[in-house]
Amino acid sequence: MLFRSQIITDPIIIPRDHHRVSRADISGNALRVLNRLHSCGHQAYLVGGGVRDLLLGHRPKDFDVATDATPEQVRAIFRNCRLIGRRFRLAHVIYGRDVIEVATFRGSHKSDQAGQHQTDNGMLMRDNVWGTLEEDAERRDFSVNALYYNIADFSIVDYAGGMRDLERGILRMLGDAETRYREDPVRMLRALRFAAKLDFDIDPEAEEPIPELAYLLDDVPAARLFEEVLKLFMGGYAEVVYELLRDYELFERLFSPTARVLEEAPESAENLLIHGLVNTDKRILYGKPVTPGFLFAVLLWEPVRQLAERNLAGGDDQAAAVQRASSAVLVEQVQRVSIPRRFSSMSREIWHLQHCFHTTKSKRPQRLASHPRFRAAYDFLQLRGVAGEVDPALVEWWREYYEASETVHAGAPKKKRRPRRRGRKPAVTGDNTP
Ligand code: ATP
Ligand code: MG
Repeated sequence: MLFRSQIITDPIIIPRDHHRVSRADISGNALRVLNRLHSCGHQAYLVGGGVRDLLLGHRPKDFDVATDATPEQVRAIFRNCRLIGRRFRLAHVIYGRDVIEVATFRGSHKSDQAGQHQTDNGMLMRDNVWGTLEEDAERRDFSVNALYYNIADFSIVDYAGGMRDLERGILRMLGDAETRYREDPVRMLRALRFAAKLDFDIDPEAEEPIPELAYLLDDVPAARLFEEVLKLFMGGYAEVVYELLRDYELFERLFSPTARVLEEAPESAENLLIHGLVNTDKRILYGKPVTPGFLFAVLLWEPVRQLAERNLAGGDDQAAAVQRASSAVLVEQVQRVSIPRRFSSMSREIWHLQHCFHTTKSKRPQRLASHPRFRAAYDFLQLRGVAGEVDPALVEWWREYYEASETVHAGAPKKKRRPRRRGRKPAVTGDNTP
């Protein structure tokens, strides 16, 4: 097969004393999984971001394991194991909040069978054909993501020239890029995400087809795109990701209401968005929490603002104008990227509270300040100030007010939090009602 001979060669084996991946840098739980699989007679490798990031001297976000054990065999070995996914069956080995993802080696789809797993656009609906390590390497997306750390002898196995690309800082798609994007259009988003995260160049062959194939993202389920959007914008490099998404024409596929209005919007609109993303990146850098509710408020504000203005001109009062604009924008947005209600309702509240900041008389500020979303709404007001959308004097008034009230609260005794009622779990993602 052409595809195969193009990328997969005899593997280069880098012995333990010739690379920098050390067991000391691998999480205890990942090591436990690797060792256990190995002692049960299976092959077990660390693969993907865990190996790539350690080789680059970064701290990996998570550790993924690849093995020749089938998901059922993995489940039989670990009591704390759950099988997940239909399209891509995986085992999750669970240690409290830490989840180690264990994937069985994927095999290649023989061409006569491939059609049964694909849509008309070439998208893979299933990828559950088991295979060998070599075949698994071929199914990975980029060469730098196809490096395997072997727990049996601590060597690194490189079938696809990943070590060389890692040194050169290149993201090279394995196989024919267009085919691979058609199989899974999310790979286009992954290319941009890794380019931003690692500061790598996308190989011209992988880069060139992206704008033309951008439309394929329309076939990806909205719930999966929500997960991808979080990875794109909450990894600490959101601003670069945004620029790349715009350059490669993917932004409009994810955020069509925003993309549509940005073209003709005042400069302040994009300034606000970029400042919002820069702030998010800074918060992540300093280990402060970030919430998708605020992120979506930033990303979708301009269409909401414009529509609210039109509603106002049409006779709505302030609150109704924003309310109706929020609903209309969210209804359109969640067709592409679902937003669980707990996040979209936060965005709504942030938007809704903006007009309240314009009244600084009587008891109004006090009432606003006691709103549970005041802090987020106030941060958002600051962004609007920096972007030149509101009078700086108003932002300054609120800054002074906020700082004064902070000092008062700092001296006050803390309220006891009511315990959460038992049996009520927070909603999980997937609810995309705005
Ligand atoms: P990070 O965890 O830092 O975001 P990662 O490379 O580990 O990056 P994961 O999404 O955790 O990314 O996936 C683990 C590995 O699985 C990848 O490195 C890659 O080898 C493979 N992989 C994940 N998604 C795809 C995909 N859509 N197509 C092909 N291979 C994939
Ligand atoms: Mg990973």
